[in-house]
Amino acid sequence: MKPTSHAFTDNARRALADAVLQGALAKAGGGFVDKRRLAIAALPEFEDLRAEGRAIKDHVLANLDRYLERFEENVTAAGGKVHWAETPEEACGIVTALCREAGARRVTKGKSMVGEEIAINDALEAAGFEAVETDLGEYIIQLAHEPPSHIIAPAVHKTRAQIAELFQAHHHDAGLTRPLVTVPEIVDEARRILRDKFVSADVGITGANFLIAETGSTVIVTNEGNGDLTATLPRVHIVLASLEKVVPTLEDATVLLRLLARSATGQEITSYTTFFTGPRRPDDPDGPEAFHVVLLDNGRSGMLAGPFRDMLRCIRCGACLNHCPVYSAVGGHAYGWVYPGPMGAVLTPLMVGLQEGRALANASTLCGRCEAVCPMSIPLPSLLREHRRQEFAQRLNPGRSRLALAAWAFLAQRPRLYRMVTGWAMAWLGRLGRRRGRFRSLPLAAAWTAARDLPAPQGETFMQAWQRRQEGGR
Ligand code: SF4
Repeated sequence: MKPTSHAFTDNARRALADAVLQGALAKAGGGFVDKRRLAIAALPEFEDLRAEGRAIKDHVLANLDRYLERFEENVTAAGGKVHWAETPEEACGIVTALCREAGARRVTKGKSMVGEEIAINDALEAAGFEAVETDLGEYIIQLAHEPPSHIIAPAVHKTRAQIAELFQAHHHDAGLTRPLVTVPEIVDEARRILRDKFVSADVGITGANFLIAETGSTVIVTNEGNGDLTATLPRVHIVLASLEKVVPTLEDATVLLRLLARSATGQEITSYTTFFTGPRRPDDPDGPEAFHVVLLDNGRSGMLAGPFRDMLRCIRCGACLNHCPVYSAVGGHAYGWVYPGPMGAVLTPLMVGLQEGRALANASTLCGRCEAVCPMSIPLPSLLREHRRQEFAQRLNPGRSRLALAAWAFLAQRPRLYRMVTGWAMAWLGRLGRRRGRFRSLPLAAAWTAARDLPAPQGETFMQAWQRRQEGGR
């Protein structure tokens, strides 16, 4: 997917004017928030679990090479093979070569954000394979030729009517003639089409929520069971994962699984949590003949040594998206690449470059809700500020904003002058807005007043009001 993150402002404006999208977002957002709140209220030890999860991830990041080597040894011992990919192109090359080796024609795929990151479907199709998404949300957006708009609910931006219309358009040749109105009718229709794809696929690709070093296992969580059918029915199973997904032990994985399900969907545990260890053994009733894990770096090793290391604790739960007022207003597509919301605003500039992704770091009021709900306590607002610092240091932001920041810095370092200037400004704005009590438009704040009124200041700064009180005034 070609990034359009630099066009965040235009993307967001379009999203805000799209009434259908706004309806879908309003319907979806609150559900995740409420379910998470109830699930956490029902687990008094949630904060302890959160601290434990963070400690596990910090320990892994401090010993990443050791645990990755251990993981590879145990995958090999179980009969599988690990492939290392530094870039998305390398990862796609490895996957397409494995599909070719397997003599594949049809490839089924479970949900994988790393798959989106490397654009694996485009690579498979360009190499002549039929790639079929099997997660319902991913299947819907594949038919719509759209990227996911949420990391755990990729089609959250679509209404039921839009999905029914898509199925009518794409399934007509496969015998769909009845109308699709209810959710069960839509789900049954997807099941009817996907069943045949599952049984006739030659290769199945899944992602991994965790990689377990001590056993060489990969773990996926789903609520549809599609991941299990994708992994076990074809002859070859390929797992796409990024380096930081490794954890030392099975116990460590269970701590993170408890955090993940509650933070993502408000469940105690997802409907299916599956551990895969190597290919089918002689006495196994089913399973693939070959098992491959493709481990992607794509800039993560660089993050490990820099100021964005905390971001590698992310377990892709989506809680920061669900609680973000910006994401809730504009949806995922406005972010212009694979990862949306606060986590995307941190990750995208690291993966596609600060020049391309710098608008995202500025699309935040730094309200801090994302950090408050993040199960891995990732300091997302501080990381966004670090992007802004780098943007300024590299002179990437426009002259006007640099000038404004320089003026602010000049004043902020001179408290007496700062108090004098803000005092004048407040008195002037207070006088100007006294009659109406608010501003409908204001030079230098046009973007703010275009969508909302700005209350007129009372005519004095907080410091002036405080000083007046100290001196016994009212
Ligand atoms: S940054 Fe935190 S809240 Fe956001 S997806 Fe990652 S783990 Fe979840």
